[in-house]
Amino acid sequence: MVRVTDSAPLDVDLALLGGGGAASLLLAALDRHGVRDLRIAIVDPVRRRGQDRTWAFWGSPDPDLDPLLSASWQQVEVTTPARRRVLDLTPLRYAMLRSGPVYDRAADAERRLRATRIVAPAETVTDDRTRVVVRVGDGSVVRAGWVLDSRPRPPARAGRTTWLQHFRGWWLEADRPVFDPQRAVLMDFRTPQPPRGVSFGYVLPVGDRYALVEYTEFSPGLLTDAGYDAALTAYRDLLGLDPAGLRVREVENGVIPMTDAPFPARPTPRVVRLGTAGGATRPSTGFTFSAMYRQADQVARALAAGRPPVPEPAYPRRHRWMDAVALRALDRGGVGGPEFFDRLFDRNPAERVLRFLDGVTSPAEEVAVMNSTRLLPMIAATAGDATQRLRDRLRPTRPAPAVPAAVVGVAPEAPPG
Ligand SMILES: Cc1cc2nc3c(=O)[nH]c(=O)nc-3n(C[C@H](O)[C@H](O)[C@H](O)COP(=O)(O)OP(=O)(O)OC[C@H]3O[C@@H](n4cnc5c(N)ncnc54)[C@H](O)[C@@H]3O)c2cc1C
Repeated sequence: MVRVTDSAPLDVDLALLGGGGAASLLLAALDRHGVRDLRIAIVDPVRRRGQDRTWAFWGSPDPDLDPLLSASWQQVEVTTPARRRVLDLTPLRYAMLRSGPVYDRAADAERRLRATRIVAPAETVTDDRTRVVVRVGDGSVVRAGWVLDSRPRPPARAGRTTWLQHFRGWWLEADRPVFDPQRAVLMDFRTPQPPRGVSFGYVLPVGDRYALVEYTEFSPGLLTDAGYDAALTAYRDLLGLDPAGLRVREVENGVIPMTDAPFPARPTPRVVRLGTAGGATRPSTGFTFSAMYRQADQVARALAAGRPPVPEPAYPRRHRWMDAVALRALDRGGVGGPEFFDRLFDRNPAERVLRFLDGVTSPAEEVAVMNSTRLLPMIAATAGDATQRLRDRLRPTRPAPAVPAAVVGVAPEAPPG
């Protein structure tokens, strides 16, 4: 840890503002690609350690990530009140990665990269096109060739639809085998549906007695603390789990933006935004990890080759448009959430749906996916989206609403509810 005074700015090639998920994946990628000659500073008021979140994502088996996984599954369930569907994801797999190993790997990389850590908030960022000056809360100043900024921030302007993915999960330990470790529950829509929004539960087992059981909502507003506990208790009961034989070992809470509002990925020439702040959160699902991982690799490869650290956009423009339409259709009540996902998985191979949700399908595959949704509400949402875009062009920019900052917490031994 250093303190650099105004009279002696710290000169670096790369300053990472924010040292969370995106920055940790980037540090590991720089190390993996053998980048050794860069001067790097990391500025974050918090040094991330331990289990503060659990990432679930899908993808092909990956020799770099797989040693860090807590679990992975070839089979997942998508359940609606009408049916339970078991999907074989081959050649993909659904995976669970806890934050601890990711932060540990990043800390090792940070040492090998001889990066300078400043444990204070970055405050102002001034880009004069040749370098970027960062003023830090402890009075220090960093001058960087490039800034990679993953500090949480609101979007540049309000979205046409602004929802949140908000959830609470319990790490449950059971007295006897009650979970099937061969299979994860990806989405279980048998939960009571909110008046405006979508809810589902899911189960990620790491063994036959230990699993993360979560209740999630995609909706405009948060629940109360008691509301999450009540919803999760009801889901536990729906799963037929006997509370007398269960202990809640940890609690995980989160809020992730789901909006078509813009998150500019390159606000100034030498500042690149990564992670949620850079648009890596997929508006229609809240999934972020795969795009962050992909972008970390692209940035590291570019730097290793002596090129500017600018990744490809997190998602193609046409995917952002499709997400805007889908969110609108869900929000305006034209399409029911369970029905929407049910049709997607019913009419497409699971692998295609998952690759679509990651933003890596071809246009032909996307037509097939869009054709599997109900046509009329989607046409109405497309027309509504187009009209709203036109109106937005004709009137001054609406300010961004205050999106609640991500609420993150892992608390030991919470009451089982
Ligand atoms: C509990 C939880 C579970 C999630 N699960 C999944 C999942 O299963 N799958 C998935 O794809 N996505 C998931 N996400 C979404 C996403 O992957 C994570 O939020 C991810 O951590 C985003 O990485 P990030 O670097 O953008 O933000 P963060 O990891 O939140 O990092 C931002 C960093 O910026 C720092 N910071 C804040 N202010 C300043 C400042 N002024 N100066 C410097 N630093 C600052 C913070 O201290 C923090 O360390 C989850 C999110 C949460 C909260």
